[in-house]
Amino acid sequence: MAQVYAAKYIAKAALSAPRDFVRAAVAKYRPLHPTVLIFHCTFVCDARCEMCSNWTRGDRKSDMSLAEIEEAFSSNLWKDVENASLSGGEPTTRNDMVDICRLMVDKFPKLRKLTINTTGLTPHRAIPMLTKVVEMCHERNVIFSTRVSIDGVGEMHGSVRNVRRAFEKAGKTIAAMQELQKTRKFNFGISSTIFSRNLDDADNILAWAKKEKLDIVFNMVRFTDAMLGNSDLEGKYRPIGLEEQQMRRFFLDRVRQDPLLDGQNYIYLHYADMISNGYHRTAPCPFQTQGVMLNPNGDVFFCENSEVVGNVRDDDPEAIYFRDTAQAHRRDIRDEKCPTCLSPCQMNVAAIKQVVPYARFLVRASLEKRRGNSLPRPVPPGGTVGHDAAAISEDPPDRPVAMQANPGALGGAAGYGELTPNEPAAAKADIG
Ligand code: SF4
Ligand code: SF4
Repeated sequence: MAQVYAAKYIAKAALSAPRDFVRAAVAKYRPLHPTVLIFHCTFVCDARCEMCSNWTRGDRKSDMSLAEIEEAFSSNLWKDVENASLSGGEPTTRNDMVDICRLMVDKFPKLRKLTINTTGLTPHRAIPMLTKVVEMCHERNVIFSTRVSIDGVGEMHGSVRNVRRAFEKAGKTIAAMQELQKTRKFNFGISSTIFSRNLDDADNILAWAKKEKLDIVFNMVRFTDAMLGNSDLEGKYRPIGLEEQQMRRFFLDRVRQDPLLDGQNYIYLHYADMISNGYHRTAPCPFQTQGVMLNPNGDVFFCENSEVVGNVRDDDPEAIYFRDTAQAHRRDIRDEKCPTCLSPCQMNVAAIKQVVPYARFLVRASLEKRRGNSLPRPVPPGGTVGHDAAAISEDPPDRPVAMQANPGALGGAAGYGELTPNEPAAAKADIG
């Protein structure tokens, strides 16, 4: 079933390839309507994650109502949106989450893929809601992709999320989605945000996901006020020094051990490269020319490192987006933020549409694979798979690990870099 679904995905992507090519050329000379949207429909959350502050700013009263969302999505701005992500906060805390999804499917004529990231921590709400969205996307011929966030195995997950029995609760949602996959085609997996607190558990999470036959993506923590409201946590949770090397090694291991064409490897190699080159970004990002982000109160951003450029409660989204001052801000983002930005958001969408960066990645990844797997790691008495210092120093970064500028980073349900599980390599690379 997964293969049939993936073939459909690839066919859809292939159909848009000529259009993508033209759009990329045109984008150099004039602003384009967005093809990628992240909508944080609420910051209300059922978790209180250590590395994120969205839960502190959750305020149902300031969230746009369904009627306001409908009015905003009736704008001409969304006519070219192909990839839409519903995020938060926790989207399933909204009683009307399924209606919001329906609006997106109805109002975005070119919608190809809808993604929802969830904590899965409230299974009695998440399971029926996600099931309804799966059914709707099936009926409307839209690819649906969802991931449950898992930041540790057992107690570790609860301590990151600050929720009792979090691992068990999320496990119920995971089990229900796996069961649903037996009768409905959609992409499902888990995502994990790695930061200084759970870095030592990353191998455990990977081993557990493999055992449970769950597709998994790892995100490197980022710090961004527009998306996570967490820039003040950077000093506390950003891995530095040996932790930073450990993280780099973990991502390189993924590139060396996972299939070459696994779409997520593009992002893992990018993370490893950025750690070693002083956080100099070389990867493309669709948000530079074709993305937009909408927050629960109607604020419009170009991306997670953007300032607010307007509010859809006050103005038409299309007028906000194409305003001269907004486009000038987008150029400022490109000049000042992009060069050091860690965001993986839909990076593969951009990469696959730019042949040269993707070809370069394939060469680099092939070389890494030839280097083989990293040294075996000792398992300490507690059972946690650790990273030995020798293995880490065997492959040090190309620069001092002293503090480097690292603006921007992310995680959790707000993450959008995640790919679609159960898609084959090519589809996972998010061709379109
Ligand atoms: S990372 Fe996601 S789940 Fe955790 S508090 Fe932030 S929005 Fe909620
Ligand atoms: S700042 Fe980051 S997220 Fe924003 S457009 Fe640049 S690379 Fe993309």
